[in-house]
Amino acid sequence: MDEILEKIPDDFEYANDVKKYFNIDKVRVEKNIDYKTSLYNFINNKITISENQTKLDKVLVIVHEFIHAKQPLYLHFMNFILSNSEIVLFIFSLYLIITNKFYFDFGCLYFSTVTASMIVRTAMEAHAVNKSLVDIKYVLKKYINEEENKKIYSYYKAINSKYSWLFYLQLNLGKIIRSIIIGISFYNIIK
Ligand SMILES: [Zn+2]
Repeated sequence: MDEILEKIPDDFEYANDVKKYFNIDKVRVEKNIDYKTSLYNFINNKITISENQTKLDKVLVIVHEFIHAKQPLYLHFMNFILSNSEIVLFIFSLYLIITNKFYFDFGCLYFSTVTASMIVRTAMEAHAVNKSLVDIKYVLKKYINEEENKKIYSYYKAINSKYSWLFYLQLNLGKIIRSIIIGISFYNIIK
């Protein structure tokens, strides 16, 4: 695998090629040593590549982040509004629970927001995860032959089928825990 990876250029050069592949010119790319994973920020239209990932991971992750950069702005905006509203509603719900003022309609508002937020975020991630597995083959064609491409692809496919459940769980874990906390209080007022 190392021999194959050597043929693929490093971060910036590779990211530039991926950028051309997706035909996006406005996205900025930078590296960060403190980030655990790479990410795309729609507010400043910037992809940050984490220095803490292996080259093998980065090769796929960079494609993944560019797919996020290509996703419609309204989706990013919706995800941003929903995820922030969910946190604000959770904090306010906790306040209402503590002061014994938690009521039915507010519980319904929290649950609709958290559900919508999970659906939008999961859909955006599922799209990026699945599309990156299609695009990676075409992106890598430039550097490696078909056999090497198959080898690297089957590695990504195997990792994906083994760990994707963990990825989606981790993605929604905070929301699931907050829903359970609010759910218990909600159950107490409706029973
Ligand atoms: Zn993602």
